Amino acid sequence: MSTRSGAPARVTAVDIRREGDAALGIDWADRSTSVIPLREIRLACGCAVCRDELTGAPLLDPATIPPDIRAYRIAPVGNYALTFDWSDSHSTGIYPWEMLRALADRIESESR
Ligand SMILES: [Zn+2]
Repeated sequence: MSTRSGAPARVTAVDIRREGDAALGIDWADRSTSVIPLREIRLACGCAVCRDELTGAPLLDPATIPPDIRAYRIAPVGNYALTFDWSDSHSTGIYPWEMLRALADRIESESR
């Protein structure tokens, strides 16, 4: 199943919303729903500050991210990604839907 835009339904978001202060809810076009803790999204940042551009190795020390990290702003980037203004003053990360879906699936499989 794929959508009119050509992206697979499992990585096409049809709705996003805040789930309280600490999580993001995403409804996907394949009719599944993900609830992702905001701190997990912050930790997964793929920008050049947080991740080595050549090796992909994480540069971000998880200990530096507060447990109560908040997103002041959540905004779409075109139709392929989200960007966040974080309460730790970081805002350079771009999170493609594929990345958010993979993160959500990993968290879900770890919590089973
Ligand atoms: Zn980053």
